[in-house]
Amino acid sequence: MIQGGIKLEIPVKKSILEDNETIAARLKEKWEKTLVLNLMSSPGAGKTTLLEKTAEKLNGKLKMAVIEGDLATRIDAERIEKHGIPVIQINTGKGCHLNAKMVEEASLNLPAGIDILFIENVGNLVCPAEFSLGEDLRVILVSVPEGDEKPLKYPVIFRSASAFVINKVDLAPYVNFSIEKAKDNALGINSAMELFEVSCYTDAGLDEWISWLVEKRKEKK
Ligand code: MG
Ligand code: ZN
Repeated sequence: MIQGGIKLEIPVKKSILEDNETIAARLKEKWEKTLVLNLMSSPGAGKTTLLEKTAEKLNGKLKMAVIEGDLATRIDAERIEKHGIPVIQINTGKGCHLNAKMVEEASLNLPAGIDILFIENVGNLVCPAEFSLGEDLRVILVSVPEGDEKPLKYPVIFRSASAFVINKVDLAPYVNFSIEKAKDNALGINSAMELFEVSCYTDAGLDEWISWLVEKRKEKK
C-alpha cells in the first residue's frame, strides 16, 4: 500500500500472533499468584485422566482449577467436576488449539485464590505450540501406544516444554515402545525437560509428578 509516498507493509500473520502475546502477557500478570500449566498432547494420550489423578492425589492440598479445551462436549469437564474441582469448558468448534483470548474469557468465570490452574489444550501436537496462554509451564504428554518417535516428529512443541510425561507405561510390555528411546528422543530436542513415566491405571510415577507440581508451586510464590 502506498500512502503519501511511504510504502506501508501490513504484517498480517505477525500482528495476529502479537495480539495473542499481548493477551497472554495480561493473563500472566493476572495469574501472578497462580501456577499455570498448559497441558498438550495428541487426542487420547490421557490428559484428562492425569488431571483426575492429580486432583485425587493433591487431595485439596493445593486449590486446583481446570480450563478444559475441546472441540465439542463437556464430557471431560464433567469427569473433572466429579473430583470437586472447578472447571471452565471451552468448546472451540472447528478450532484445533486454544488461544489466549479464549482462555482470558474463560478465566473470568474461575473462582479467586487458585493455587494451581491446568489448561487442558485441544488434543493436537502442532499449532498449540504457537499460542501462549499466559502459562508458566508447558507439559507434553505422550502415551506408550503412540510410539517413541513422537518427540522427533513434533519437535517444535517439545522445544517449548518444561516437562514430558510418558503416560500409560503399564502398557509398555504389550506395544513396541521403548521408554528409554522416547526419553532420549525428547532430551535430544530439549535437554532441560523434566521427565515423568506414569500410569494413571497403576498410579506408577504419580508421586513424582505431584512432588514436581508442589515444588513448582512453591517457586512461584
Ligand atoms: Mg481430555
Ligand atoms: Zn490449531
